[in-house]
Amino acid sequence: MTLPVIAIDGTAASGKGTIAKALARHFHFDHLDTGALYRAVAALVLRDGGDPSSRHDALDACKLFRPGIVPDTELRSAAVGEAASQVAVLPEVRSALREMQVHFALVPPGGKGAVLDGRDIGTVIAPHAPVKIFVTAGVEERARRRWREVHAADPAKTYEAILGELRIRDARDSERAAAPMKAAADAALLDTTDLSIDAAVAAALKLARGKLEA
Ligand code: C5P
Repeated sequence: MTLPVIAIDGTAASGKGTIAKALARHFHFDHLDTGALYRAVAALVLRDGGDPSSRHDALDACKLFRPGIVPDTELRSAAVGEAASQVAVLPEVRSALREMQVHFALVPPGGKGAVLDGRDIGTVIAPHAPVKIFVTAGVEERARRRWREVHAADPAKTYEAILGELRIRDARDSERAAAPMKAAADAALLDTTDLSIDAAVAAALKLARGKLEA
């Protein structure tokens, strides 16, 4: 029996992670944050003093990678996010991480269904997913959200610096040759620029219900 898969792709700070978690909770599906896999590889490279754009260093890190090997606090740093988008350019890194994502989508641990969020879920990892949502928001609004998140812990980080980082990351993720970030042809687009978190989750839930309960 094929289990349902919900593929959520989109830009950094668009709300896709929050939406993915909420949908997983609602449908009692398992959730995989695939960005965390790329972040973990990047964190292992940085721990070792390596260069995230080096194929050699990134592949060494892939060999060390195990789920849970890098604590969440380390995964969430801005430096690791930036390095993740560098290792993610490398096709060898993508193929090293591919099988576990495909397996999670096909055989989620809870046996009911899976929600995966990332950049290439609807296009590469689960192209047959019955529900595909591409989440985005204007880059200024995303920078404001990120700034609000990090401001207390890192008051020196300016809105302008975050805006610049997001622009670089968007360009790198969408312009790379291997599995670039893009909406699948059959994905529903969800622009969260003017939506609260609750409204964005409600809109995604409506889209998913429409597909899964059709
Ligand atoms: O979503 P998150 O910000 O955690 O992702 C970090 C980076 O990992 C992204 O900027 C992107 O380069 C990469 N990534 C990817 N494919 C995915 C998930 C994340 O290339 N499926």
